[in-house]
Amino acid sequence: METITTFTSELSILEISYLIASILFILGLKKLSHPATARAGNLWAAAGMGAAILFTILFHQKDGQPIGNIIWIVVALAIGSFIGWYASIKVKMTAMPQMVSIFNGMGGACAALISLMEFPKMQNHLASLPEPVSNMLGGEGIAILLGLMIGGVSFAGSMIAFGKLDGRIGDIKHPILRIVNLTFLVVLFVALFVILFMKPEADNNFPIYLFALAALIYGVTFVMPIGGADMPVVISLLNSFTGVAAAMGGFLYGNQAMLTGGILVGSSGTILTILMCKAMNRSLLNVIIGAFGVAGAGGVEATDKTVKEISLSDAAVLLSYSQKVFIVPGYGLAVAQAQHLCHELDNLLASKGVEVKYAIHPVAGRMPGHMNVLLAEADVPYEKLVEMEDANNEMSNTDVVIVIGANDVVNPAAEDDPSSPIYGMPIIKALDAKNVIVMKRSMAAGYAAIPNNLFYHAKNRMLFGDAKATLQKLVAEIKSL
Ligand code: NDP
Repeated sequence: METITTFTSELSILEISYLIASILFILGLKKLSHPATARAGNLWAAAGMGAAILFTILFHQKDGQPIGNIIWIVVALAIGSFIGWYASIKVKMTAMPQMVSIFNGMGGACAALISLMEFPKMQNHLASLPEPVSNMLGGEGIAILLGLMIGGVSFAGSMIAFGKLDGRIGDIKHPILRIVNLTFLVVLFVALFVILFMKPEADNNFPIYLFALAALIYGVTFVMPIGGADMPVVISLLNSFTGVAAAMGGFLYGNQAMLTGGILVGSSGTILTILMCKAMNRSLLNVIIGAFGVAGAGGVEATDKTVKEISLSDAAVLLSYSQKVFIVPGYGLAVAQAQHLCHELDNLLASKGVEVKYAIHPVAGRMPGHMNVLLAEADVPYEKLVEMEDANNEMSNTDVVIVIGANDVVNPAAEDDPSSPIYGMPIIKALDAKNVIVMKRSMAAGYAAIPNNLFYHAKNRMLFGDAKATLQKLVAEIKSL
């Protein structure tokens, strides 16, 4: 069967440009894996995408004709670029997951729209053939239907994820939703095969629209029951869906750049999903059916154990006369937007000869790399950020660990309480250090909504208050010593 859109052999310049774009995507992705090169990596990948778009506009031909609708394309590109640029400068650090989910949803929508456009063309093309080539739609049909299904699920799911992260939509955790979900998934696959084998008549677009609607509904019911705080994992999963849907477009058009880009997004999204689940010691199924982590949970622990507090002046003295200090940043540091003050404290202590480093837990905060990005925003040098395992190896010769707005990632229940939902999750072993100071506003729990015995430990003292206000006072206190 002829492909819907073919490239002629003279168009090798286009193919070469797609190869270059693909190489730029891969190199960009490689650079994105380290904070020091991440910015350049982003630019490299963007340059690859820019080149792919430009060369497609300049050299793509269909039936010997150059690309049409140039004005529309340029206007759409200008509007899209403006919205992307404006959103990226306006969005707050804590709203980053929302922005990622909207952008991801747009990718899914594009993939789904490509399928919706190409399906009628394919029908007409098949109808124009003198003999039916086969009794099913074939490779293009599969690519179109999968692109529509996966793209539709990704779009609708990402929009719900956005609503949840932005606090506009709550969780609906009724067990019936699991049955509804499964039913819709089965319906989608059955519909896919029915459309493939039944080959709807030309001009009859009803089945494909119905299929698109089912994909959208499944996207909604799939994400609806998942806890708001689990959204970063789900977004990364939906991100991989968008990649796969885009790759389907690449298959369809024989467009290597789209194919490579889609596969890279699909595979990196999948790897990230797996890594995040591993770092939380939870299975993907456990995240999807929402075993813990109700958004905004934070009950006060009922206990008769005593908590020791530390005064600002005592904390200032303890820190100033230490040799080595580890800062453990967590979600609360991002909420308080205290990263700049945190860096100021770190510089101040360093000026007094104290060695200060940051212990970074892979799931501290609410999105992958949250703490790295937050601290990079405050110009904390990357060399000071130590990964969890290495930090744990250094804990025994650390004088003070300051936990700022972190909770679950330092909870010893992960190691010593088999009944705890976070049992088995790797943690930063703050208690291996000589002293611990925890800065938070209250005794409220963190994301996992479970008590933390670290707060009651003999080595620990609490410094209650908003992280920003407390750090401000602590810095002033140390300066006055
Ligand atoms: P937690 O959610 O466990 O704890 C954050 C703590 O910060 C709270 O206990 C809160 O206590 C405190 N806090 C909130 N606001 C402030 C403030 N203004 N000033 C001072 N303290 C504040 O965060 P962690 O970073 O320790 O752990 C992250 C959790 O999120 C893990 O359970 C992880 O599995 C989960 N998660 C992470 C993802 C990721 O990609 N990073 C994705 C999905 C889930 P108080 O209210 O008393 O101040």
